[in-house]
Amino acid sequence: MPQPVARQGEIGVSAPYQGDMFQFEYEQELATLPPSRAHQEPIDVLSYDRYIVAMSGGKDSIACLLHLLDCGVPKDRIEVHHHNVDGEETGEDGLMDWPVTGDYCKKLSEALGLRYSQSWRHGGIERELMRDNQPTAPVSIPYLVDGKRMDVGGAGKPNTRLKFPQQSANLAVRWCSSVVKIAPMDAWISNDPQFLDGRTLVITGERAEESSARSHYNEFEPHRKDNRNGARVRRFVDHWRPVHKWSEQQVWDIIKRYSIRPHPGYSLGFGRLSCRCCVFASKNQWATIKFIAPSQFKRVAEVEAFTGLTIHRKLSVQEQAACGTPYPASNNPELIAVANSHVFSLSIFVDDWQLPAGAFGEASGPT
Ligand code: SF4
Repeated sequence: MPQPVARQGEIGVSAPYQGDMFQFEYEQELATLPPSRAHQEPIDVLSYDRYIVAMSGGKDSIACLLHLLDCGVPKDRIEVHHHNVDGEETGEDGLMDWPVTGDYCKKLSEALGLRYSQSWRHGGIERELMRDNQPTAPVSIPYLVDGKRMDVGGAGKPNTRLKFPQQSANLAVRWCSSVVKIAPMDAWISNDPQFLDGRTLVITGERAEESSARSHYNEFEPHRKDNRNGARVRRFVDHWRPVHKWSEQQVWDIIKRYSIRPHPGYSLGFGRLSCRCCVFASKNQWATIKFIAPSQFKRVAEVEAFTGLTIHRKLSVQEQAACGTPYPASNNPELIAVANSHVFSLSIFVDDWQLPAGAFGEASGPT
């Protein structure tokens, strides 16, 4: 199996001097390694005390993680963090996401020897969209004191949604991203005392190619929860989007170089790995979801009917699916079973890496 490229720093730290012959071989080995890529970046990548990688399980967040390793960031400073968009750690199948995503992210982190943690809003997107004169649910964050989790929020004003997030780049109306991803990350950074100590770099995988809105994101900026100049509480947090300028080809190249098996959604034909039932899903995607996950599809259709408002302005998900065609690659019962399981049962590293069927395909997903 091809192995990930070794880092100079790892060899430099771990190689004890064992005589001239060893020294000769060691120097030869060092000479064959690619240089750390940290110096090629517009920021001082290696200057942080901790690195939080927001991991969706999709190719872009994996590319971010692998790029950090390429830059020579020590593994013990990296934490992979996943937001469970359907809420809770385990349990019933959710309304929106791929059941396997959480465990895929966990196994990926373990395979790379990295810490893994999760946050979620209780009840996930479904509870928020069904809110009827109720407050937004609290967020569960990893709280490292005593190793216990902690709930934050949940005491806001009662309000009513009773509608799916709207298809818009405006996060105020496309509220899912802010409610189940951005807010949980903010709650964690604001409440976990580890972030008061030293410098933190938060890494996310938005790419300019994905949408016009994303092309305007900054590649590097202070994080929303940075408070480095605070009078009472000081928190130094930067936000880096290392693959912002990358092409899709570059993303797949680094995943191939590390021999990482992509999330099964890509092999089933999806071009982007967002929530399986993302509100931006195309007609072909809805047709595919109906084929590979009929009970989840039915639940989404039922929620549309209950709220009286469809995700699409004019068409119900049933009508969208009827206009689309399932991706040919989705006709694969073994892969469907993997994708529909809460346990990712395949190996993370693969010997014979293949570009998945969804690569360079339809790119419907968050804008
Ligand atoms: S992937 Fe789609 S449905 Fe999920 S949070 Fe993002 S925009 Fe919302």
